[in-house]
Amino acid sequence: MTKTKIAKAETNKRMEEIISLCKRRGFVFQGSEIYGGLAGTWDYGHFGLALKNNIKNIWWKKFVTDREDMYGVDAAILMNQKVWKATGHVDGFSDPLAECKKCKKRFRTDQLANPNKCECGGEMGEARQFNMMLKTNVGAIQDDSSISYLRPETAQGMFVNYKNIIDSYHPKLPFGMAQIGKAFRNEIAPRDFTFRAREFEQMEIEYLVNPENWEDIFEHYRKEMLDYTKEIGLKAEHVYEHEIPDGERAFYSKRTIDFEFEFPFGRNELYGLAYRTDYDLKKHSDFSGVDLNYLDEETKKKFIPHCIEPSFGVDRSVLAVICDAYTEDELGGEKRVFMKFNSSVAPVKIAVFPLLKNKPQLVEKAREVYTDLRKEFGAVMFDDNGNIGKRYRRQDEIGTPYCVTVDFETIEKDNMVTVRDRDTGNQERVKIDELKEFFVKKF
Ligand code: ATP
Repeated sequence: MTKTKIAKAETNKRMEEIISLCKRRGFVFQGSEIYGGLAGTWDYGHFGLALKNNIKNIWWKKFVTDREDMYGVDAAILMNQKVWKATGHVDGFSDPLAECKKCKKRFRTDQLANPNKCECGGEMGEARQFNMMLKTNVGAIQDDSSISYLRPETAQGMFVNYKNIIDSYHPKLPFGMAQIGKAFRNEIAPRDFTFRAREFEQMEIEYLVNPENWEDIFEHYRKEMLDYTKEIGLKAEHVYEHEIPDGERAFYSKRTIDFEFEFPFGRNELYGLAYRTDYDLKKHSDFSGVDLNYLDEETKKKFIPHCIEPSFGVDRSVLAVICDAYTEDELGGEKRVFMKFNSSVAPVKIAVFPLLKNKPQLVEKAREVYTDLRKEFGAVMFDDNGNIGKRYRRQDEIGTPYCVTVDFETIEKDNMVTVRDRDTGNQERVKIDELKEFFVKKF
């Protein structure tokens, strides 16, 4: 095997291990699996959903709740078709699609090293533009006027509400609108687990500014986006900024930075930050006939605000966090796999065990400890299934930072429990009365 083939086999193996752990431990399942799946769709199980919610909640707190200048929006997924005509999506939201003449596989030709040759060696057919919006009809009659689309981005749900926000809350520039929600793209080639899906979630901000100030605000968000990657536990050395050069940006963008992440399958886009000028609001103003000017009360000047858009993929965040957390090491002479999640995102913060599940005094005490900790920390799990070694292995794979065991000494002798640290495997005895304080310091 050549060096690149070996590297590819290794990354494939790493991804297979990650995907298999995600299924085994109930993080992510293939969509519609019992029917053979549906390409580009994924279902989150209990722990994956907890992880995803933590990632979304940190985002919402950082970018909405902790700020005075942000307005949350939860817009409908189905929108008037004119929205997508105004933005140019109906005519231009497409990727070049070509089919290999030999193996009949379809590819996005802009993602091929050689757009004329397939990986099987076959010759590629001619590329045609393929629109990625998922079309549907609203109402009983299926004609042109009933066409709607499953939104391909959350952004437009905010732009169309710009006037409502101005009229309801009277904000002064600069201010932002923020939304977390589903988006749909009929991707030509969904791939790399949840990385490129046909149904996914985005967390987006449309931050409206006076064009005179765009540079400082762009810089502010550049830093905030990098901070966010740290807050969810991504390794700084795996996050890259890629300044998109002139000529390669969307035509309406004056500056774009892609934040890329070193996934096991290669460096790929995680988030984007773009200065979209006044493109979107201007288009909506033109197409709807509604005046979307902003009146600056001090200068009495009217203008369409400009927009800086930090855009985050939820599923790509979850995948990046999972890939960075996946760790193999040796503990007590045995190989183990564990998820080294930051406690801020870990789906379970603490697991509580009775040493034996058939000893009522142990179970009762462990339940007491569990109930107390759950009141304080929320994501606490009671686990009495299998022997202690098995439970540690399970909790390591779920990524639980601490396990607490109630044993005979706890009830007969010292009212202390054993706390085991996921990363080091170290164990220490802690008084039950001091447990809460102990964990408050840890989290
Ligand atoms: P790509 O170049 O990878 O197709 P994009 O530049 O089209 O992505 P944007 O339109 O900027 O992506 O969307 C914003 C964010 O939404 C992306 O940074 C990414 O995190 C997420 N995203 C976009 N497409 C997908 C997808 N098919 N599956 C999962 N997440 C996606």
